[in-house]
Amino acid sequence: MHVLILGGTTEARRLAAALHPVVRVTSSLAGRVAQPVLPPGEVRIGGFGGAGGLAQWMREHEVGALIDATHPFAGTISFNAASAAATAHVPLLALRRPGWVPGRGDDWHPADSLEQAAGMLPALGRRIFLTTGRTGLAAFAALDELWFLVRSVDAPQPPHPLRMRTLLDRGPFALEDERALLRDHGIDVMVTKDSGGSATAAKLTAAREAGLPVVVVRRPAAPEGVPVARDPGEALQWVRECQAGKWPA
Ligand code: NAP
Repeated sequence: MHVLILGGTTEARRLAAALHPVVRVTSSLAGRVAQPVLPPGEVRIGGFGGAGGLAQWMREHEVGALIDATHPFAGTISFNAASAAATAHVPLLALRRPGWVPGRGDDWHPADSLEQAAGMLPALGRRIFLTTGRTGLAAFAALDELWFLVRSVDAPQPPHPLRMRTLLDRGPFALEDERALLRDHGIDVMVTKDSGGSATAAKLTAAREAGLPVVVVRRPAAPEGVPVARDPGEALQWVRECQAGKWPA
């Protein structure tokens, strides 16, 4: 069976490593990161040209199972995957890590979008640790009174906040380092997407310990009716069931 994994996440790489070489696996990356960490197996990079292009690619490459293991905030590709799977009659699974849940002592402020998160900041603090990635910084560009520490894998492009320092780094991040980061930069508010997972969760613990408010951007809608695996192990089980014919498209 040929399995296509829509990737760009740690979980996608782990799943590819678990499948390869027993199963033929191709991982697809959007091409946003200059030097991506490549998973084992075959890799293709770049968009498909919408849901129709993805369906055609799957037919041409005789894909028998599709796994949408993209980031929970990659909303478009997940809907394209649902549409393409239906068109090409390929079983589809979403591999999506559960969202974070606030614990005792957390001061979380939910927001429905980056724009709403930006609107909440002036009332919460002055020195912001922005961990929402390098895309979407335009939402914060008009906040000239605030200072931002922006952490991202690749350098951000304008428009972005006027008063900003960039930290180029890629998770996982250790708790000790996150504590030091907040302290050394005098951070008084953090902004994060509800990405979930352990690789970047230490910042939430560090914020809780320091008593800092955290603006948490909620996840966008995901396609309904798609079975969801919470971790690569569950996805592996689904592939086995596909091979046994349990999940006809
Ligand atoms: P998006 O808004 O859902 O997708 C925009 C377009 O990018 C899609 O329509 C598709 O182009 C292409 N694309 C996205 N993921 C792809 C994949 N895995 N393989 C091939 N084409 C892909 O996605 P995004 O938010 O720009 O994220 C892009 C990638 O970065 C995703 O793969 C995601 O896993 C990863 N990522 C995103 C975030 C985030 O916060 N959004 C964080 C970490 C990693 P076509 O329509 O031309 O096929």
